Amino acid sequence: KDTLDTIKEKEHKIGAFITLSEEEIVKKAQGLDRKLQKGTSLGNLEGALYSIKDNIMMKNQRCTCASNMLKNFIAPYDGECTLGLNEAGAVSLGKTNMDEFAMGSSTEHSAFKVTRNPRDYKRVAGGSSGGSAAAVAAGFGHFSLGSDTGGSVRQPAAFCGVLGMKPTYGLVSRLGLVSFAPSMDQIGILANNSRDIARVLEEIQGPDFSKDYTLVRKKPVSYDQELQAFTKDRESRKEKPLKGITIGIPKEFFEISMEKEVEKALDSAMEAFKSQGAKLISLSIPHFGYGLSAYHVLSMVEAVSNLARFDGVGYGNRASNCENIEDVIEKSRGQGFGEEVKRRLILGNYILSKEKQSLVRAKKVQKLLQEDFQQGFQQADFLFTPTTHTTAFKLGKKSKSPLDMQRLDELTVPVSLTGLPAISVPCQEPGNLPVGGQLIGNYFDETVLLKGALGLE
Ligand code: GLN
Repeated sequence: KDTLDTIKEKEHKIGAFITLSEEEIVKKAQGLDRKLQKGTSLGNLEGALYSIKDNIMMKNQRCTCASNMLKNFIAPYDGECTLGLNEAGAVSLGKTNMDEFAMGSSTEHSAFKVTRNPRDYKRVAGGSSGGSAAAVAAGFGHFSLGSDTGGSVRQPAAFCGVLGMKPTYGLVSRLGLVSFAPSMDQIGILANNSRDIARVLEEIQGPDFSKDYTLVRKKPVSYDQELQAFTKDRESRKEKPLKGITIGIPKEFFEISMEKEVEKALDSAMEAFKSQGAKLISLSIPHFGYGLSAYHVLSMVEAVSNLARFDGVGYGNRASNCENIEDVIEKSRGQGFGEEVKRRLILGNYILSKEKQSLVRAKKVQKLLQEDFQQGFQQADFLFTPTTHTTAFKLGKKSKSPLDMQRLDELTVPVSLTGLPAISVPCQEPGNLPVGGQLIGNYFDETVLLKGALGLE
C-alpha cells in the first residue's frame, strides 16, 4: 500500500511506467498475507517489489518496447528472468518506460512519454532503461530489471543515483528480452544497494541453456552469501574492508573531458577505496578510443537483422489500405518506428551494403579491447572509471543531436564490446546531482564488483 501511495503521489511527475499492474499487486499482497498467516515457507525475495523494462516479456502483458510498432503486442510467454523472480516470491509492479527498442541514452525517444529524473524533474533520467532507474530512485519498489547493450542499465543508474549492474555476457538468459544487438544485449539489475543486487542476481542467473545458447554453463553462485561471508570475515579479523584488493585506474577513461562535479566525485570515491585498505594502481586500456565507433557499427548492423521481424506481418503494427506485400511492410514500418530507430536502421543497412570494411574493423577493435582488459586484470582485481562524463542534463538539451547523445556511451561501451561485467555505483558529493562510478570486473567475477560497490555505500 505504501508503495502504491508513493506511485500515486509521484508517478504523474516522473513517468516511469508504461504499464502499472495495480490489481496484480494487491492480489499478490493478499496471497503473501495468507502465506504469512499459515506459516508457509517464504521465497528468497518474498514480497520484494520490482519493475521491469518494457522490452522484457511477461506472459499475457503488453510488451511495447516503447514503440508504436508494438503498442498492442501481448507477450505470449515469460522472460526466463521473470520466472526465477516469481519463484522466489518477488512481485512485479509493472513495465517501465525506455527509449524505443532500447536505442538512446535519455528515455526521450519513447513513443509514449518522457521519463523525468526523480532527483530533478527538469532533467533526464538517462537511458535507455530510464524508467527502471527512475522507478528505483523514486521508491517505486525495491529493484528493477533493465537491459544493457551499450550502457543502458549503468548510465541511467548513474544519472538517477542508484546502483546498476550489467552481468557478464552469458550469465543471465536473454529468452524473452526483445533483441536490439544480441551479441551485446544483457539483462541487468537496478537497486539501492549491493546486497539487493546480489540477491536478485542469484535468482536470475542461468539456468536454462536449451533456450539461450549464449548462456555459459556454470554452477550457480550464492552472491549474497559470498558478500556476507566477506564482510563477516573482515569484521572478525578487524581488517580494513578492502584490504588485499587492487583497483586498476585505466588512464584513458580519465583523459576525456569531464564535468567538474564528476571529477570531484570520482576523486573522493578513490580516496574512500584507499581509506578502506585497497591499493590503487594506474594502468592502460590502449584501444579505449575506438570503442564508441566500433559499438555503433556493430549495434546498428545487428539491429538491422533483429528488427527485420517487425514487418507488419508477423508482429505488431499493420498498416491498413495496402496494395501489396511491399506496401504492407513499407507502411507498417514507416508508421511503427520512430525517428531514432529509423536512423539506426538506415545507417546499419548502409554499412552492410557499402561499408563492410568498418564491420571488420569493429570486430578487430572488439578483440583488441578484450586483450587490453585481460592485461589489466593481471594487475588488478577490478577497474574503476566514471560511468558517464556528465551528470543528468536538462530535458531536450541533447535530443536533437545524435552525436552528443552517443558521447554519453563512451565510458560504458568498452565493457559491452568485451562482455565483461560492470556495476555503476553512486559516488556524488552530498547535496549534488548523482554521479556514477563504474567498477569493471573480469568474466564471471560479479562478486568482486559487489564487494567493491559495498565499499562505496
Ligand atoms: N545508449 C546506447 C545506444 O543508444 C546504449 C543503449 C543500450 O544499452 N540499450 O545504443
